[in-house]
Amino acid sequence: MKRGCTQCGECLNVCPVYQQYKREQYSPKGKRILMEPIDNGDSPLPWERVKFLSRLCAGCGRCKDVCARKLSTADLLADVRSTHPHWTQYMWELWISHMGPFWPALGFFASLTPDAVTPGPLRSSLAMAKALPAPKEGKPWVVLKKNPAVTVDPTPVVVFAGCTANNARPLWRAKTEKLLKAWGYTALDSSSFVCCGGTLHHAGQYKAMHAMQEKNTAVWKELGRPRIAAFCASCHHSLAEYAEKVLQGEDAALWKKSLTPLSTLLAGAQAEITPDKPAEYGYHHPCHWGANGDRDQPFLADIVPGLKKGADVCCGMGGVLKMTDPDLSMRMADACLASFPSSARDILTGCSGCAMQLSAAAPKGTSVHHWLDVVSV
Ligand code: SF4
Ligand code: SF4
Repeated sequence: MKRGCTQCGECLNVCPVYQQYKREQYSPKGKRILMEPIDNGDSPLPWERVKFLSRLCAGCGRCKDVCARKLSTADLLADVRSTHPHWTQYMWELWISHMGPFWPALGFFASLTPDAVTPGPLRSSLAMAKALPAPKEGKPWVVLKKNPAVTVDPTPVVVFAGCTANNARPLWRAKTEKLLKAWGYTALDSSSFVCCGGTLHHAGQYKAMHAMQEKNTAVWKELGRPRIAAFCASCHHSLAEYAEKVLQGEDAALWKKSLTPLSTLLAGAQAEITPDKPAEYGYHHPCHWGANGDRDQPFLADIVPGLKKGADVCCGMGGVLKMTDPDLSMRMADACLASFPSSARDILTGCSGCAMQLSAAAPKGTSVHHWLDVVSV
């Protein structure tokens, strides 16, 4: 793990956790000062305090983006969690690795539970559970058509849907396959892929993460190393790391080349906006695209004119943060939603986790969707 924080403080104001507490020990810089010396097993702090601080991170990667030394505090904290685990990490692994098929049913039962009878500390978890069942399909208001002048690469494509879409929003995968077919791509069977493992990395559950990575790369090889279409910024971010951390040689280079955002595969689309279009809509930029690397925004700006980007505030999803500190996670979501103009009550995004998190936190009258929800073909 790379170390050597210069204590420049650049990471303070981009960290959504620091924004909530305004105390330096909660910032990436503060955590680095306290945790970088842990290398040899010694800690300047009581272990319970170290473990507590290591859990306060949304894994957004904003600190690494601005750090001149490219230090990833999310990775440092994941390492600390991995060597000094907390029970919530095992719960998160169970939730991701084994409970996925039960998410909609659990969400249904959660929806029967009134907020008023739920103890305060559980309310934010309940809100998230209530967002799990897929809502009734709204009326899409962007009809997409392939531009006949654009030629399509004949390499077969496999959709990487990710665990959120597979378990809670199957419509996203189905719509992606429909779009690819309409564009003339050959879409392969994607049902054998599992979670990308990114959220398990963040939780410090490395063994489970490695198992997911091995399974996904084996599926890709069995399918003949096709292009991989991802419609979730967080999945894309995590899959991109396979080229550096999981695969080697030619496979690593080919994986890197094959991984493609869905929006890139649909580039040049012709869009017809229907009268169901909301008056004003905002765009939530997922942190996992990085500060300047949003791969969906140019496509969305083309097909949805007048799309207003929000103030670039992290949604607070943070994977295991939902277990370790659900209230902090929800406070971050509230801050994100509050950063949009009050007139933009329809918010689009391109990350499955952001869409679920912001849907769970959205006040009455505000709706949050993955952009796939509003397009039809
Ligand atoms: S990854 Fe995000 S939440 Fe975690 S320390 Fe860095 S900026 Fe803060
Ligand atoms: S930006 Fe990097 S070097 Fe500067 S304080 Fe933060 S972690 Fe340390």
